[in-house]
Amino acid sequence: MALKITNPATGAAIATLPSDDAKSVKAKYERARASQPAWARMPLKQRLAAIARFRELVVADGERLAKILSKEVGKPIAQARNELKGVLPRIDFFLEATAKTLRPLSVSGSAGDPMEERISHEPLGVVANISAWNYPWFVGTNVFVPALLAGNSVLYKPSEFAAMTGLEIARLMHAAGVPEGVFTAVIGDGKVGAALIAQPVDGIFFTGSVATGKRIAEAVRGRLVKLQLELGGKDPIYVCEDVDIAKAAAGIADGAFYNTGQSCCSVERIYVHERAFEPFVDAFVAEVKRFKRGDPAEETTYIGPLTRAPQLTVLEAQVGDAVKKGAKLLVGGKRIKAKGNWFEPTVLVDVDHSMAVMREESFGPVIGIMAVGDDDEAVRLMNDTAYGLTAGVYTPDRARAERILEQVASGSVYWNCCDRVSPRLPWSGVGDSGIGLTLSTSGIETFTRPKAWHLRSA
Ligand code: NAD
Repeated sequence: MALKITNPATGAAIATLPSDDAKSVKAKYERARASQPAWARMPLKQRLAAIARFRELVVADGERLAKILSKEVGKPIAQARNELKGVLPRIDFFLEATAKTLRPLSVSGSAGDPMEERISHEPLGVVANISAWNYPWFVGTNVFVPALLAGNSVLYKPSEFAAMTGLEIARLMHAAGVPEGVFTAVIGDGKVGAALIAQPVDGIFFTGSVATGKRIAEAVRGRLVKLQLELGGKDPIYVCEDVDIAKAAAGIADGAFYNTGQSCCSVERIYVHERAFEPFVDAFVAEVKRFKRGDPAEETTYIGPLTRAPQLTVLEAQVGDAVKKGAKLLVGGKRIKAKGNWFEPTVLVDVDHSMAVMREESFGPVIGIMAVGDDDEAVRLMNDTAYGLTAGVYTPDRARAERILEQVASGSVYWNCCDRVSPRLPWSGVGDSGIGLTLSTSGIETFTRPKAWHLRSA
């Protein structure tokens, strides 16, 4: 089987990669299973040293890796470089925090007590890491680095739209000293992903769409396997009337359009207090008009193509539905007639929650802005969603922001910032945004099973 890789900016074929099939996936699983115990027995120091070498290799090869990423997913080159740079503090966090987090913990009472109680952290075993294409370095690293450090072997399936990057990651892991059976790339589309989760793995860590996440949950029904699903979002921002309009508009426009709107935590809905609505919309539209769209290989390009062609139809349908129901287009609104997957950066006003653009993930350069009368209405609308990945408030008043954010059901909340991920904080979602978490010390523990030790000395 072969996997054809296409440049989303031009539609041109880039490469054809050998794809896995059910038989090769099974063989890779068996090798991962056989390789795991020795990896887990190795002192943590040696696993840390291998990941530190992996980090060095990523740095040394950064420019070439950024170019591969840019070419296969259409990410503007400056943003591809940012992703490669941004992955380093994540690796650093895991290098610093793992030993402390996984240290066995004695939890028994006073000294001299003959009974000791201790908690240790055992690796899960073999884990399947099924990944998305939008930030392959970020979402991959969040899983495979702590999973490996905790002593698991990893079967890593990059998205079929980021498979070249996936193979580079595997190459660097092996060059860093992680055995081939301990970190294995599994290449192919959804069918190959389905073959992977059919193996008797000990954990499935998935990042991708809600539809696929639900399909996976259905496929493993009845199996006692740990399942984590990091899914989509419809992330809201509320702009209060007391903000610095220009600053808020610039920050939120970047949060909505960075990576051509294809971030799980992209701003997807904007609510603005009615007293700030008009000046905010004017400033926002001016920002969007300044974005340079074009060849992802150009240094100054900010908006690239969509990675996946079918998303053009989704965006067209969202805009059409909104306009039919009374929304007004201020910028953009249609696909661009050119080779590749191009859509105009699009801003809609006069939107409401009867419209798909305010309810369903757009995952592209399209945003709706809606006026609200007060904070209560903003909270009600922010919570009127099946999702709950991130949500934010812009106001100089911290107490007001915290009062609002306390009421919002969301895995992450932001005050005067958005579209932000920190390795020190847990990354998780409410509702259709998923189950489980990555990052933070909890995102290290999640790749382990706590073992309870009852030790009586006398
Ligand atoms: P997708 O669901 O189409 O694919 C994700 C992965 O699942 C791919 O590797 C794919 O090959 C695989 N897959 C498809 N069908 C499968 C099946 N039946 N069994 C097993 N694996 C299967 O998602 P995508 O288009 O790659 O990613 C975009 C989505 O990911 C967006 O919804 C975005 O919000 C979400 N995302 C979420 C986070 C997060 O941290 N919450 C991060 C990045 C992306």
